Amino acid sequence: MKKVAIITGGSRGIGAATTKELAKAGYAVCINYHSAKDKAELLASNINKNGGRAIAVKADVAKEKDILALFETVDHELGPITALVNNAGINGGISTVENITSECLQSVFATNVFGTFLCCREAIRRMKQAGYGSIVNVTSEAARFGGNQLSHYAASKAAINTFTVGFAREVAPFNIRVNTVSPGVIDTEIHQASPPDRLKNLIASLPTGRMGAPEEVAQAIVWLLSDQASYLSGTIVPITGAR
Ligand code: NAP
Repeated sequence: MKKVAIITGGSRGIGAATTKELAKAGYAVCINYHSAKDKAELLASNINKNGGRAIAVKADVAKEKDILALFETVDHELGPITALVNNAGINGGISTVENITSECLQSVFATNVFGTFLCCREAIRRMKQAGYGSIVNVTSEAARFGGNQLSHYAASKAAINTFTVGFAREVAPFNIRVNTVSPGVIDTEIHQASPPDRLKNLIASLPTGRMGAPEEVAQAIVWLLSDQASYLSGTIVPITGAR
């Protein structure tokens, strides 16, 4: 069977590492991006040069019309999707609840929760027809710890952990699996906006003494998508280096 995957936010960080691993595993990949056009196109071109199949498609997952257009583009260019990675996410910046703005809350929930939900809706409509599919959401251990002045972000990720369980039960009869990876602290640009001391102290508190690499999350995602994980569904897999 032809394997076709969409990776939201697929040109940077955990998304880019996942895109590369999926291309290596023989998937035709759609690299969704929002602002990182050059990175997305370069990654697609490298995959195509090396004998794979990749397209880069701009879509803001916080906007339903962009999601609809993204899935239609993939239908036409790659064929029906068999795998979806809901990786795109933002943390909205550090803020106490006392100082949170409704704009911040809306953009975090629109991207992390509504975006994931609506991408799942579009995926499931197609996967049910195909009679097969596998979805991995990317949440965060912040959902467990509550986030440190990132409770808006933590709450959005907790919403998707719960969604994963209910959605997986709903679609299990159709041979479709839904799982979530919940990374700890991973070395990507998402931490760039953090004050340097905050990140330094966080790393010092980690049992391994280091952040995880994006590839260490990507490997788990690819395995969860694969038939090797055929009886795993509705599961939240922490990737934390023993934190
Ligand atoms: P990153 O390097 O900041 O990448 C974020 C990705 O999300 C980018 O590809 C970005 O696309 C995309 N994105 C953001 N808003 C989007 C939107 N509205 N529409 C489409 N794409 C959008 O961060 P990362 O660490 O790789 O994060 C990936 C996922 O892992 C996120 O869901 C994050 O919450 C989660 N996570 C990360 C960590 C960590 O420590 N790094 C820990 C736990 C969970 P553009 O560049 O094109 O804008």
